[in-house]
This record gives sequence, structure tokens and C-alpha cells, in this order.
Amino acid sequence: MAQRRVSILGATGSIGQNTLDLIRRAPAGYDVVALTGAGNIAQLAADAKAVGAQIAVTAHEDRLEDLRAALQGSGVEAAAGANAITEAACRPTDWIMSAIVGAAGLAPGLAALSHTKTLALANKESLVCAGALMLETAQRTGARILPVDSEHSAIFQALAGEDIATVERIIITASGGAFRDWPLEALKDATLAQASAHPNWDMGQRITIDSASLFNKAMEVIETREFFRVDPEQIEVLIHPQSLVHALVGFVDGGLMAHVGPPDMRHAIGYALHHPVRAPLPVERLDLAAIGQLEFSAPDVARLPALRLAREVMATGGLSGAVFNAAKETALDGFIAGTIGFTRMADVVEDTLTEMSRRSGLIDATMSLDNVAQVDHQARQAAKAAIEKRAG
Ligand code: NAD
Ligand code: MG
Repeated sequence: MAQRRVSILGATGSIGQNTLDLIRRAPAGYDVVALTGAGNIAQLAADAKAVGAQIAVTAHEDRLEDLRAALQGSGVEAAAGANAITEAACRPTDWIMSAIVGAAGLAPGLAALSHTKTLALANKESLVCAGALMLETAQRTGARILPVDSEHSAIFQALAGEDIATVERIIITASGGAFRDWPLEALKDATLAQASAHPNWDMGQRITIDSASLFNKAMEVIETREFFRVDPEQIEVLIHPQSLVHALVGFVDGGLMAHVGPPDMRHAIGYALHHPVRAPLPVERLDLAAIGQLEFSAPDVARLPALRLAREVMATGGLSGAVFNAAKETALDGFIAGTIGFTRMADVVEDTLTEMSRRSGLIDATMSLDNVAQVDHQARQAAKAAIEKRAG
């Protein structure tokens, strides 16, 4: 079989490493074009050499010489900076993984849509900030976007062969994150270490903290709306502490199609890598008899301001998703730096949404990459001001 040209944006991260794991199990099948990373130069260089990539790119411009030194004699090209990542994403591929964390993943993923057949999308921020732009661009270029977020891969799989018009509701599950059993009053004192430990999934630090604050689920509700074009009222969140049922699709006949699998991102990544073929994957096979019971409960809205804010963002529309994401990223930086407490993150996001809605014309501007970047910038400034107000 012909080799498939593949690139991985965010190769050194949790999703990127899981993607490389799958590719390295069948090295003859792939011609690796570009790998990108940020500060983890040694990992980036080692992986680029191991898979014989054409080019390795770090986001940090000041680390170019380090990367060059690490790649010396290997024949792998080195480049650095955000623009270099976007350029590398434009090298022709059959399949490209978008797994940079944060809004930084939007520009390269969007650019890649003009130069690839399939964009595997882990970077949910792209859809939250600019869902319509991503989907319209894919339609224009003929590139296919496949979801990699486990819930969205699950929905996509449950919808195979179905007519979206017959979908009544989509239910995404939430483990509840690190603090699901904590009393509400205790949450404000949650530490960085406590928020960075997920009970079921092994993921990057930022998404792990977002899981504890439910901002990850809030982003995923918006992602569901953007990707599958269903109404916000059709999207439900269900607490499921075991993370085995990833999503369910309910149809007009009352039937529910659930996707059940182990909490291992290589399933969703592998599904997107091999689509439309179902190929064997090295994930655990579930012993449902041993598991015995699947647990579900309704989310406790009082604990979860993030989900309420996501609903507000969907009702507002326009560029409010970009505001929401930028405010969330800035608030998360504030929590990681120890400037604000855990529950203050939602306050900062809410303050930022309120402040930005007062600035006329911004949220309603056309959804272009430039306008999204501008709104993102202003929202980060507004969120920083909110953090100063809320600090301590
Ligand atoms: P991670 O922090 O482990 O890795 C992030 C990657 O992005 C790294 O390669 C890092 O070098 C790179 N990066 C960081 N900042 C960058 C910047 N400014 N410019 C360019 N590159 C940068 O994150 P992750 O957990 O792998 O998550 C990646 C994306 O996938 C996120 O959007 C996340 O929400 C999504 N996702 C992750 C999981 C998971 O299991 N980890 C599941 C679903 C969705
Ligand atoms: Mg998810």
C-alpha cells in the first residue's frame, strides 16, 4: 500500500505522543512530513529523527538553535516560531493531526485545510473560537475534518449511516473531573496539584484542570454545536464517573446509540487515522461483566458555572466563542500562576464576557482569522484586568 503523508501539530503533547505511538506501530505505512512542538526540544528532535520527519518546528523562536543542534546530522529540517508552524502545516499531507493546545492551534489547523485531505481535530479551541470558519473552509477546500475529542468521535461513530435530521438529542458524558466528590465550599481552596490529577484520563495539564472546572465540558458542548450543527437545546451533559460511555445520540424513535470504550485516546485518534476503515487498535478490551454497573447522574448546575456560561455563549453566537476561550485560557494561566483561586476562573470568564459584550461591534464582526485574533487579544486584556480585580 502507498505510504500516507502525515503531519502532527503538537506532536510532543499528550495527543501528539499517542498519535506517534500508533504511527510507530506501522512505520512502513507513513511518510511523516512535519512534527511541531514548543519548549520540549529534546522530545521533538528525538521523535522527528525516529520517524524520519521532513521538518521539526518549535513554537519558540528563541529555541531555533537548540533545535538545530538537537537535529544535527539527521537530515531533518528545523524551524521556529508561530508562522513556521503554519508554514509546516501547509506542506501537503494526506492526514494531519491538529493537537496544539489553545487558540494557538487555530491558524495552523485552518491553513492545513487547504493542503490536506483529512484534518484530525483534537484542538477543540478551533471550533469554539471559529467553528463556522473551520467548517466553511473545509467545505471549500474539500478537506475532511474528523473529530478526535473522545465525546465527538463517539457522536460521529454513533451517527454513521444515520440522518442528522432524525437526531433528537446528543448527550456527552463528563467524568466530573478531579473534584466531582468534593463539597462545593471546598472547591475554592483547591490547589494546582489537586486540579492537575484526573481520575480516569492521562492528558495535558491544561485540559486536566479544565476537566476539574468543567470548562473542558463547556468547551465540548460548544464544540458539539459547531461540529454537528445541532441546536444548543439538543445537547445534554450527563455525569458518568467511569468515563466508559463517551457520548450517546438519541433519535426521534427514542433509541439511544451509545459509544462505549476504555478511556484511552488512541481509540479516537486511531478511528480518525484509519477512517473510513476500522483497523485493530492497541486499546484495552472492556470486560463489562467485571465492571458490573455503569453509573450516571444529572449534573449539579450550582457547581458548574462553566456550563451555564457555555449556554450563554451559544445564545450570543458571533465571536463570543473566541471571547470565552481567550478568557478561559487567561483565567487558567492565572490559576496555574497562583494569582487566582480555582473557583475564580469562572468569575473571570463571566466578567470578561460581560465587559466584551459592552464593546460594540466586536462580537458581531465577520468571522475571519484576523477578527478572531483581534477579539482574542482584547478578551485576554479584559480577562487580565478581571484577574487583577479578583486576585487574592
Ligand atoms: P499537551 O499540553 O499535552 O500538548 C500540547 C501540545 O501543543 C504540545 O506539543 C506543545 O508543545 C504544543 N504547544 C503548546 N503551546 C503551543 C503554542 N503556543 N504554539 C504551538 N504549539 C504549542 O495538550 P494535550 O492534552 O495533548 O491537548 C492537545 C489538544 O487536544 C487540546 O486542544 C486539548 O483540548 C485536546 N484534547 C486532548 C485530549 C487528551 O486526552 N489529552 C483529549 C481530547 C482533546
Ligand atoms: Mg473530551
